[in-house]
Amino acid sequence: MVVGTRSELWARAQRLIPGGVNSPVRAMRAVGLDEPMFVRRADGAYLEDADGARYVDWVQSWGALLFGHADPETIEAIREAALDGTSYGAATEREVELAAEIVEAIPSVEMVRLVSSGTEAAMSALRLARGFTRRDRVLKFAGCYHGHVDALLAEAGSGVATLGIPATPGIPGAVTSHTIVCPYNDLDAAAAAVARYGEGLACVIVEPVAGNMGVVPPAPGFLDGLRALCDASGALLVFDEVVTGFRVARGGAQERFGVRPDLTILGKIAGGGLPLAAFGGRADVMQELAPTGPVYQAGTLSGNPLATAAGLSVLRRLRDPLVYDELERRAARLQAGLDGHGTVQRVGAMLTLFCTPPELGAVPIRNYALVRDRADAERYGALFRHLFDRGIYLAPSQFEAMFVSLAHGDEEIDRTIEAVESFRA
Ligand SMILES: *Cc1c(COP(=O)(O)O)cnc(C)c1O
Repeated sequence: MVVGTRSELWARAQRLIPGGVNSPVRAMRAVGLDEPMFVRRADGAYLEDADGARYVDWVQSWGALLFGHADPETIEAIREAALDGTSYGAATEREVELAAEIVEAIPSVEMVRLVSSGTEAAMSALRLARGFTRRDRVLKFAGCYHGHVDALLAEAGSGVATLGIPATPGIPGAVTSHTIVCPYNDLDAAAAAVARYGEGLACVIVEPVAGNMGVVPPAPGFLDGLRALCDASGALLVFDEVVTGFRVARGGAQERFGVRPDLTILGKIAGGGLPLAAFGGRADVMQELAPTGPVYQAGTLSGNPLATAAGLSVLRRLRDPLVYDELERRAARLQAGLDGHGTVQRVGAMLTLFCTPPELGAVPIRNYALVRDRADAERYGALFRHLFDRGIYLAPSQFEAMFVSLAHGDEEIDRTIEAVESFRA
C-alpha cells in the first residue's frame, strides 16, 4: 500500500481527480481549509487521518453509520458474505430478507426495490411516479437535496449551496422545466403551486425532516398538508428518507410524524455503510416497475451480497426500542450542551448548530432562505477550524447535520461541548 502524508496525497489527488475529491462535499474550502481530510482508518466514534491525527467524527459517512465505524457485527457479516462471492447479478435470499426488514419497519412501504445509491433511488422513484401517474411535473422544496438527479438539482441545498453554485451546467432546460420549487414549510405556496399545476403533477417530493440545508424540522401540519394536497390532485407524495429513515425513528419521519407517503426513498443507514439504497411504497405503484409493469429500472450491483449483509446486520438490531431511547438521550445531551452557542435544531439523532449572530439569540430557522439569511457561514468556518484543531470533526459546511450514533458516548459528547464552549469569534 502507498502511504503518503496528507499533503503528499493532496498534491497527487489534485492531479488525478477533479478537485482532489470524489464528492464535492469532502472539500474543505467552504470552511477555510485548502486541503481536505484524507482518512486512513476509523473505529467507533473516531476517524484517523493520513497523518495519524484522531478526530471525534460527527459526520459518520453523512449519517450512514448508526453503530459507528468498523462496527464488529457489520464487519463480520460482510466478511462472511464475501467468502461466498461478492456479486452474482442474480437473486439471493439476503435481498428477500432485507426487503422484509424494510417493509416491516417503514409504515407505508409494502414493496421495495434495492439499488446502489440514494441518487439512483430518487431518480427511479421520480420515474416511477411519472410512469404511474402519466404526468411529468414534480414539486420540490428549496434546500432539499435528493441526490444529483437532473430534474431535482434546482435549489438543492447541501453541496450545491456550500459551493455557491446557482445552477448546474449540463442539465437541459427541458429537463428542469417540469420542476416546480417552493419554500420549505410553506404550505400556502405549495397549495398555490398545486392549484396552478396540479393536473400535470406527478409527485411532490420532500425531505420530511430537511437535513441538507442543516436540520429544519417540518412545521406542524406541513407534512399532513402535503398529504392532503396530493390526495386532492392525484399526485403521489414521495418522502426522501435517505437520511431520516431508521434515524429519527425506526420507521423514519413517517413514523415519527404519522404521515403516510405513497413512495419512500431510503439509503445511508439502510446499507450499513455499504453502497445500498432503496425505494418502495404502495404495492399498486411498485408493480408498475419492470418486469411486472412497463417502467424500466435495473442495476448490475443492485441487492449486492455484501451490501445486503451489512444492511441486514444493522436493521435487525433496530427492532430493539432501546436503540432509539439511547440515541434520543445522547442527542439531547449534545443539544443541551450546544444550546446558547447559536441556534440548535434537532429531530432525534440529527441536529445542526446554526451559527446565528449572538445578538439574534436562538431564532427558529424554518426554510432555506432563512438559513442563508441568518446562519453565518464565515463564523461556522471559524468554529469548524477551532474544533478540527482540537480533534473534533464536524461536516465541513454549515448546510449539513451532526449525526449522533451509538458509538458516541458521553465522553465524546462532553468533549465536543467543551470545545464549542471554548470558541470565541
Ligand atoms: C445523501 C442523500 C441523497 C443521495 O444519496 P447518495 O447515496 O449520496 O446518492 C438523497 N437524498 C437525501 C435526503 C440525502 O441526504
